[in-house]
Amino acid sequence: MKYHIWTEGCQMNVADSQRVGSALEHLGYSHTEQIESADVIVMNTCVVRQSAEDKAYGRLSSLKPLKQKNPGLVINLMGCLVGVRGHEKLKATFPYVDVFSPPSDPGPLVSHLTQGEIRSNEDAETTRRFLAMDEELILPVAERDKLVSAHVPIVYGCSHACTYCIIPYKRGVERSRPVGDIVNEVRSLAAQGVMEVTLLGQIVDRYGKDIPDGPNLAELLKLVSEVDGIQRVRFLTSHPNYFGDELIEAIANLPKVMPHIELPIQAGDDTVLQNMRRGYSQQDYRDIVAKIRERIPDCSIATDIIVGFPGETEEQFLQTYKVLEDLKLDVAHLARYSMREGTVATRRMQDDVGDEEKMRRFRLLEDLQENIVADINARYLGQTVQVLFEEKVKGRWRGRTPTNKLVFVESNENLQGRLVAVQITWTGPWSMQANLLTQVTPIVL
Ligand code: SAH
Repeated sequence: MKYHIWTEGCQMNVADSQRVGSALEHLGYSHTEQIESADVIVMNTCVVRQSAEDKAYGRLSSLKPLKQKNPGLVINLMGCLVGVRGHEKLKATFPYVDVFSPPSDPGPLVSHLTQGEIRSNEDAETTRRFLAMDEELILPVAERDKLVSAHVPIVYGCSHACTYCIIPYKRGVERSRPVGDIVNEVRSLAAQGVMEVTLLGQIVDRYGKDIPDGPNLAELLKLVSEVDGIQRVRFLTSHPNYFGDELIEAIANLPKVMPHIELPIQAGDDTVLQNMRRGYSQQDYRDIVAKIRERIPDCSIATDIIVGFPGETEEQFLQTYKVLEDLKLDVAHLARYSMREGTVATRRMQDDVGDEEKMRRFRLLEDLQENIVADINARYLGQTVQVLFEEKVKGRWRGRTPTNKLVFVESNENLQGRLVAVQITWTGPWSMQANLLTQVTPIVL
């Protein structure tokens, strides 16, 4: 009995797919890369933009002939295409899909495969308890003792209604996981060889706000970094409104918490920010960046930007350009505004920036950012940095610096899961190359 999982979208989906794989292996299935030979196919989908949604529909259609050839095949559609608010329409359009699962919930699939052994059909908690997943997460076999860096969801859903964003509708209200579950999961990951964890939430710095007397993100970071075997802790995505001093202090003071922050600005013009209902001004954002840099001088900062939001004028766009030009951030994830059904922006605003204009603005920011990051990375040339190596790709070992820069090293030694000092010999905007400095011995912290 074999399973195959296709994953599209954010890191949360990657983590969710890992859970599904783990659940399936618990039930006796084994993983296959070959979709044709699978008995169970999971499509874990994303709908944050139209392009992602189109991809999911394309993939889904390509499964129809497989199902016709093999009626016993179980097809599980999961993730944001399904969402938390019912899936009657999808069911009618794709009658060959057997199981529909909301994001982060292996429940319906497990229930289907165990034919009612687990009663409640859409109850993630029951499933997790059945599979003992709150106690520990047994990684799928393919990743056990090989996975160096794992993603750990700490906040499910999102309750912050940015006008353009479909995620709150698809992932439901914000729910923080109990701290004990998170720490237990990190312990079990460490026991399986994981050295770095990235804590995940749509607005990760809101962690714990829905749990009375529970810890906040700063306190959680401390608890997680105390887990034996864990060498590095990261977290994403942060929202400027909740990025407070206590969190900055935690990053500055906890040596295992890496100096890298994902802090989306989305736009650099105050009117656009208001129309997006982000809740801060461009100056607020600049102030936070200044504060981070003052306290954590070597910190890298990534941001997200949407170009062509409804009503965005050339002048407003140029404000965004200027913020990026001034702040010189390490990464800018750029997106062209995409209308999402049901959102406030779609209901109340005109998608009035044309496709070509969106593309032009996208390219302008892309070029600007490429130059900025090339300059930032050039400063690493000749420097010695600690790199945690994850895997060998096309003959070269791939790892990351504390600031999340990609580093490649040619070496015949096995560097997987090694945290070693390297000297940077070449830098470009997207990656760096390095030489090993010394003989490789694992660094014990
Ligand atoms: N929760 C995070 C972002 C998660 S979605 C936050 O608060 O910022 C990932 C990114 O997709 C967003 O940061 C945004 O830049 C982009 N995005 C979301 N909705 C979009 C839309 N309708 N069109 C284009 N990009 C969008």
